[in-house]
Amino acid sequence: MSGKQAFGIAQKIFRRHADAASQGELGRRVAPPLQSNHATYGYIINPENDTRLDEVVLTPFQAPHTYTGEDLVEISCHGGPVVTKEILSLLLSNGARLARPGEFTQRAFLCGRIDLTQAEAVLDIIQAKTSRQSRRALSALGGSLGERINAGRANLLAVLTRVVAGLDFPEEIGDAPEPEIEKVVGASLNELDELASTASTGRYLREGLKLAIVGRPNAGKSSLLNQLLKFERAIVTEIPGTTRDSLEELLDINGIPVVLVDTAGIRPTEDTVEKIGIERSKKAIAECDVVLFVLDSLEGWAAPEEEIAELLNGKPFISVVNKIDLLSKHHLEKRFGTFGDNCFSRVMVSAKSGANINELTEAIERFVFQDTTAAESPSLNARQTDLCLKAVAALRLVIQTLHGNYPQDCLATDLKSAIDALSEISGESVSEEVIAQVFATFCIGK
Ligand code: GDP
Repeated sequence: MSGKQAFGIAQKIFRRHADAASQGELGRRVAPPLQSNHATYGYIINPENDTRLDEVVLTPFQAPHTYTGEDLVEISCHGGPVVTKEILSLLLSNGARLARPGEFTQRAFLCGRIDLTQAEAVLDIIQAKTSRQSRRALSALGGSLGERINAGRANLLAVLTRVVAGLDFPEEIGDAPEPEIEKVVGASLNELDELASTASTGRYLREGLKLAIVGRPNAGKSSLLNQLLKFERAIVTEIPGTTRDSLEELLDINGIPVVLVDTAGIRPTEDTVEKIGIERSKKAIAECDVVLFVLDSLEGWAAPEEEIAELLNGKPFISVVNKIDLLSKHHLEKRFGTFGDNCFSRVMVSAKSGANINELTEAIERFVFQDTTAAESPSLNARQTDLCLKAVAALRLVIQTLHGNYPQDCLATDLKSAIDALSEISGESVSEEVIAQVFATFCIGK
């Protein structure tokens, strides 16, 4: 429970064990004030009829050093559905109301305890499917992303102030020195470009990397899938935000949640008559982020591969030359020389024996983290990316204005839009509608 009335409501429905022991079962005397930051053992009592609902530990936390920044009371009760429901109803009938989705975190944001990037990090931690995701989110929760954004924003604000001062007092102050403006704006652009480049990594980690295994019949797609399934434990929870209603096939590959897109092997009972299944491959390719293009080393590159290569249509792929146990390395090199520009990486494996499967999982890992230096650094979500790109576009205009030797009043508008976009990322200045959108994706409570 959070809010001004939290302590008062708790006081009404809680009896300390010590009081119950000295004054009979219910300890009906007026209870002493709750002691902040102390866990107290006792009972939840319905004050209407003096019935005991559960044996609990109650821990009050006084504002401001609490999760929400308000008075907060935690009740640790037994975990059964009936008892928790009864305690909840009791709280509701004594003046509390149910929290809206994300409201605890929203209150923490509104009272200034955390910024919006930290609130979003809480959501990322709750929704993390792998340890890698949660580590990244934890870093953003520490405020690292917000700090980077705010530092850039402060520098731009200083430039804007100087420009505006020059415009207001052309005689006394005059134009801001342009090399200085360019230096600050250039540094901000680099920083924001780097942050924006983390967006695809962030999306793969949040929503899962969509991977399609494609190749001619008998190339070893199912065998490869089985190797990947064996290699990593499957994740069973559903990833929200993916377009499908059904549960996706999810794997954890080196801490990356991987969503297998409609590929052979997902439906093992399917018709045994094998065809390339052009339509299905097409769909899988269109829906995925990266393709594992499985080639049969014995068959080499022939008509079916040509056809698949055409279907790829620029989609990045990792070529997986399979059945290397059947050919010498020399022959392999000769058969599979070069691939197109969209070939991200080439690995040679045996799906049957599992040889070199590590190389494949490492290639997948490199694909996900290709643009990011530190694997644990925060990565932008879609909302933040949009704003970051807005700021980048505005700053590019600033640079153009500088190079075009236009009057400095043109600079002010673009500097201001960049600053506004950055303020919206950290939540420094953000509309209620955006706040509502961010928190609506939380589960009830947290
Ligand atoms: P799919 O049709 O692409 O799914 O291919 P499968 O995974 O069903 O494999 C077709 C055949 O190739 C099966 O008999 C597999 O045992 C065999 N196979 C798959 N991978 C390898 C491999 O790495 N080495 C060898 N020798 N045989 C393989």
